[in-house]
Amino acid sequence: MRGSLALRHVDAGSCNGCEHELTAATNPLYDLQQYGLNIVASPRHADVLLITGAITTRMAGPLRTAYAAMPEPRVVAALGDCALGCNLLGTQAELAGPLETILPIDLRIPGCPPTPAAIAAALTAALQRPRPAEGSGPQLSPRRN
Ligand code: SF4
Repeated sequence: MRGSLALRHVDAGSCNGCEHELTAATNPLYDLQQYGLNIVASPRHADVLLITGAITTRMAGPLRTAYAAMPEPRVVAALGDCALGCNLLGTQAELAGPLETILPIDLRIPGCPPTPAAIAAALTAALQRPRPAEGSGPQLSPRRN
């Protein structure tokens, strides 16, 4: 897998701001694909579960299901401050709580939303580091610009 990463993106309750920036990161200017970073349609083909949004109660289960379907070793990346549990939407009953109470976070990409450059930098940095052992918790950290 060294040299490429397959990314499965899941919107777990986003305002779509993070999705706009993630989409921009795949455009010809930032071109994630040139680094071997490809968004795939199934968690069964993914190395990285890339999660955006505050985690709604309805999405907690599907996130666990997607994670369980991924081949090991697997990486969970939280993209944006909502996924990082910054509580931008408060503590509504519809929210399941911080992502890290549901899945281990290996890669953190902060920002509201993070810029396409920050997304590309964090993911390309992840390519160059050893992948975490299963259940070992955070080991990858994004490159700060
Ligand atoms: S981090 Fe900001 S842009 Fe991303 S989903 Fe939350 S509110 Fe929207």
